[in-house]
Amino acid sequence: MKVLVIGSGGREHALAWKLAQSPKVQRVYVAPGNAGTAQEEGVVNVEITAIADLITFVKQENIELTVVGPEAPLSQGVVDAFRAEGLKIFGPTRSAAQLEWSKDYAKAFMTRHGIPTAQYRTFAVAEEAHDYVASRGAPIVIKADGLAAGKGVIVAMTLDEAHAAIDAMLLDNKMGDAGARVVIEDFLAGEEASFIVMVDGQHVLALATSQDHKRLLDADQGPNTGGMGAYSPAPIVTPEVHARVMREVILPTVAGMAKDGIPYTGFLYAGLMISEDGKVNVVEFNCRMGDPETQPIMFRLKSDLVDLVEAAVESRLDKAEAEWDRRVALGVVLAAAGYPDSPRKGDVIACNAKDNEDAHVFHAGTVLNDQRQVVVSGGRVLCVTALGDSVRIAQKRAYEMAEQISFAGMQYRKDIGHRAIKK
Ligand code: ATP
Repeated sequence: MKVLVIGSGGREHALAWKLAQSPKVQRVYVAPGNAGTAQEEGVVNVEITAIADLITFVKQENIELTVVGPEAPLSQGVVDAFRAEGLKIFGPTRSAAQLEWSKDYAKAFMTRHGIPTAQYRTFAVAEEAHDYVASRGAPIVIKADGLAAGKGVIVAMTLDEAHAAIDAMLLDNKMGDAGARVVIEDFLAGEEASFIVMVDGQHVLALATSQDHKRLLDADQGPNTGGMGAYSPAPIVTPEVHARVMREVILPTVAGMAKDGIPYTGFLYAGLMISEDGKVNVVEFNCRMGDPETQPIMFRLKSDLVDLVEAAVESRLDKAEAEWDRRVALGVVLAAAGYPDSPRKGDVIACNAKDNEDAHVFHAGTVLNDQRQVVVSGGRVLCVTALGDSVRIAQKRAYEMAEQISFAGMQYRKDIGHRAIKK
């Protein structure tokens, strides 16, 4: 069969790489893909992004299954459009994806269904927002309601920072429409983990747990980014915490969406804050897999991803099972000069690293230029992912591979996995 992956990041490279390993799959198309997917065996890039053109292509090529990577096409209704044409696609509808594209919707949903999350209120008027933060005190968290590519959240440690964030979003329009409303929520203390599941509207299949590193610099310093590295499993998610997350977060979310008449299908990502005493709160929902979490998760998945996606699309996830490599997988993101504020494009990448069974270079912001050189085309450029019997071994392998890659201004964290190593 032929399958299509929509997107162009590291997540999509990892999904395409994994799908291409299925004995059922003859070819994986990636739209639009990157230089890594262009070079992957069994994978072909197609320069298409418009939903109507994707549908035409899928029909022309008799593509049997489509998997959506990023949130943008989901919020534009790609799943609704494919389904209206009778095409098989794995992802949430535009309404279900609201769990990610409107933080106000997600918070109201969680409150309505008793899913643990920080107390909050939503504001469109700056003065009211200022009064609210003054009454709650700092630290406090100010979030743009809409999609802002990870840049719409200010964790304000002081009231001054909180007031400034409110003015930036509501008065100065710094986030555009995404910041026309702000969600203000209480600060949650603890350690974060990513909990990603597959959902078929009714049933859930939990994927391996993971943890990413959002800050740019070592020791979790510097600005927030899309994610500078990740590993799987996340030791913070003990079997007890896992059971609690399923019971208190995942199952009520899936049941709640069905009850609200918006059954959820697709990958569902719960960003969690886990307190020292094991209490769980939802920081955010994403309606897709995480990037870079997908890279280590796919590296550990032993089952055929096509079987799992087909089971999900055919509403029989209750009978599906995923088998995982017992080893640890760890991915280190190599980012462009100037990332995250103004990543520089066009630098040529020299890569002497050789992919093997235990390590793989997944591409994100890369393209092939006219001379077939791989050049930087986005903020997060590559994610070097390796397996090992322990976090330390996986980490060592990933960094050894990273050292064989270079481009002008390349930056990466040297401490991916530090929390797991401490544990
Ligand atoms: P992403 O890029 O992950 O999609 P986002 O823009 O949707 O990010 P959130 O995930 O809601 O934003 O928040 C970004 C980060 O800010 C979180 O990963 C967490 O580190 C921090 N954060 C958000 N809400 C809180 C909170 N209530 N208490 C403490 N930290 C928080």
